[in-house]
Amino acid sequence: MGVLKEPHIIDLPRKIVIGRGVIDRLGLYLKELLGSREEGKVVVVTGHTVGKLYYPVIKESVENIGLEPIRVIIDSSTVDEAERVYREIRQIADKVVAIIGLGGGKSIDVAKYSSRKIGKPFISVPTVASHDGITSPFASLKGFGKPISKLAQAPLMILIDTDIIAEAPQRFNRAGFGDVIGKYTAVRDWRLAHRLKGEYYGGYAASLALMSARHVTKHVDEIAAGTEEGLRILLEALVSSGVAMCIAGSTRPASGSEHLFAHAVTMIVKNPPLHGELVGLGTIMMSYLHGMNWKLIKRLLERVGLPTAAEELGLDRDVVIKALTMAASIRPERYTILGERGLTEEAAKRLVKVTGVA
Ligand code: ZN
Repeated sequence: MGVLKEPHIIDLPRKIVIGRGVIDRLGLYLKELLGSREEGKVVVVTGHTVGKLYYPVIKESVENIGLEPIRVIIDSSTVDEAERVYREIRQIADKVVAIIGLGGGKSIDVAKYSSRKIGKPFISVPTVASHDGITSPFASLKGFGKPISKLAQAPLMILIDTDIIAEAPQRFNRAGFGDVIGKYTAVRDWRLAHRLKGEYYGGYAASLALMSARHVTKHVDEIAAGTEEGLRILLEALVSSGVAMCIAGSTRPASGSEHLFAHAVTMIVKNPPLHGELVGLGTIMMSYLHGMNWKLIKRLLERVGLPTAAEELGLDRDVVIKALTMAASIRPERYTILGERGLTEEAAKRLVKVTGVA
């Protein structure tokens, strides 16, 4: 490794709280982090449904420490929506002490983005364990007709109430497993880009991302059974994967060709499956291209009840083939096993057939 021209700066989460019923104590943890500030507003970005369920608890908890909660409801995670939220918060910026993202992916991404723009701490309160965006410093938004990943900021605190996560439909937690399994190919792609394109490669961040994939692999049965222990293992893995992105300063350790495929499908179909479900499917195919043990990946996904064929996700074979051929063009600067020009239709057809995906 040569001498670093620019300093490599790593921002990490300060406090990570995982446990049963911890949402009640959000205010107390927040007070510890913010110090003795006696007044100020805490913005809670959330969706309609989740907001109805859990905002009242957060409201009470924040009021108990003498701060004023303000709810901001969002409908989507587009760049426009994130900008709207930013403008809304900007008007009260001098009084805001923290911005909470409460919900699944969208609320967390929008809160992460607007908090960075306004320069206030971001608090992540996920209600599902379906992806690693709950820890990462990147906001995944939709803009210009495609998913984009914007550098936002690492959460000051991640608070995960396992009672809430356990209430979420099993499908979400299974999807989280798919997102973590994707690190096997993401790290391979990163290494490839390093060797072929001279891209920066952080061995430590890569190892951490791989470790989270190995962690869920080792405990696949607990996760499949949906036990409390299984949930905790999955959450640890999602948190570690997000931390790997914090350390790398990019989404590289957590997102490669399997993610490009997932993004492509999201662009093609109107009501796409869950992110982690698509990543799982992508990982089967990309691990085949990498010459890895793709059958093992497939078996792991099957064991937790994740779909391993496009049909199970309601996706047509044509959609999968189209997504495979366009995946490389979504982020041309991100070199992966798909190469610079992506797969030809012929190659895509062969790939879906060999792996039994479609
Ligand atoms: Zn992901």
